[in-house]
Amino acid sequence: MVTEPGTTLIRGGMVVLGQTVSRQDVLVRGERIAALGDLSACPAEKQIDATDLLVLPGAVDTHVHFNDVFMNTVSVHDYYTGTLAAIHGGVTTVIDFSNQLPGEPLVDTLAYKRDEAAGKALIDWGVHPVITQPTPETLDEIPLLIEQGAPTFKCYMTYRDEGLMLTDADLHRVLERLSKSGGMLLVHAEDDDTLAENIPALIAAGQTAPIYHARGRPPETENKAICRCIQLVRETGGRLFVVHLASADGAELVGKARVEGLDVLAETCTHYLIFTEDVLKEKDGIKWICSPPLRDRSNQDRLWAGLRNGRISMVTSDDAAYSWKAKLYGAKRFDLCPNGIPGIETRLSLLYSEGVAKGRLSLPRLVELVSSTPARLFGLAPQKGTLTPGADADIVLFDPSAEWTMNQETLHMATDWSAYDGMDVTGQVVQVYSRGELVLDRGLCLAKKGRGRYLYRQLDLPTRAFL
Ligand SMILES: [Zn+2]
Repeated sequence: MVTEPGTTLIRGGMVVLGQTVSRQDVLVRGERIAALGDLSACPAEKQIDATDLLVLPGAVDTHVHFNDVFMNTVSVHDYYTGTLAAIHGGVTTVIDFSNQLPGEPLVDTLAYKRDEAAGKALIDWGVHPVITQPTPETLDEIPLLIEQGAPTFKCYMTYRDEGLMLTDADLHRVLERLSKSGGMLLVHAEDDDTLAENIPALIAAGQTAPIYHARGRPPETENKAICRCIQLVRETGGRLFVVHLASADGAELVGKARVEGLDVLAETCTHYLIFTEDVLKEKDGIKWICSPPLRDRSNQDRLWAGLRNGRISMVTSDDAAYSWKAKLYGAKRFDLCPNGIPGIETRLSLLYSEGVAKGRLSLPRLVELVSSTPARLFGLAPQKGTLTPGADADIVLFDPSAEWTMNQETLHMATDWSAYDGMDVTGQVVQVYSRGELVLDRGLCLAKKGRGRYLYRQLDLPTRAFL
């Protein structure tokens, strides 16, 4: 039989497409998915046996921090080490943040990210510009950034000392401009006044252990900030996305805002679904210092419920990989510990294991949460996040019955520690394809440095379509 060059046939796997899970062959031609169905007669150049495996669209992680300078350190994940770990975790698309320094035009921050990614990125990537200086000049840049494929902008309601915080008046101006230009605002919602009151008081009282990080940032800190930005959406008609939601009450606030007709959505992150604040009481509690903090068990159960009922639209990693040396800044004072948990690699397996295998999530819902919804909401559909013919052939072959333990040897993140050490999981990534190219084969990364492309993203639908 004459075979067709540049084609791969993935045969006999269980394919997740929308709400259906069915045994189908997937034909890849060049960089795209060409066809689905019974294609056993197809003369593909390469034939892959996917019997007993799940065939999923590559995971999309829209919340990662590469080369991020923060709290006297910098994240150890760059566009090589970060995307390498991503591939091992079945992630084929990432969106990073570019923080604006004082006096710096936003377009420059995007250009710096292109420099950082050049010769390094193994998978396709995009950028959310972070507005820290909402001057008239910066706001005037918004349409230009949207034109350059970066229509989602992040702002912080806290981290005053880090130079990241915006006031409500600033946020109002940003939302107004974004709403005129068709952009979306991503917000880190924690009420800075509450933190400014709580944290110095805890330190002064000698309550400096990691658990006090959570005590100083109770759920109301988030809820208050979320209420404030929902009010700003009411005033401006803007489009808002709450990142790393940890408070279950916050998810209710987001749900109510949508019922009201406002364009407000939220994500949560893997660690809020896996850990409770109790880990902060362990010997190495600083491992789990992140903001917003981990919360209690009943809150966690409600976050899982929020994933099922749609109050929470998706799950990202919020990968913020600081070295152990840097995390130790917080050994005696929680407030000096760089906030963040490395997790770019662990999301898909953990959510399969704790979500699908334990009956908390259906398999199609998992795919929505980690792949199709992030792609659609962040302007990457129909190119990413789906196995529909015509889409990029970003494909994960996943073994749902593999059992393994997460630790420094089995994970590939660049940190010299892991928050997930010793965790037993069910489900493992076997192969990963990025634009039709086999980039991971049973633990071996085959991707060439620099093959990842910048993604021009375009938000073409109101988020209301994603209820
Ligand atoms: Zn983050």
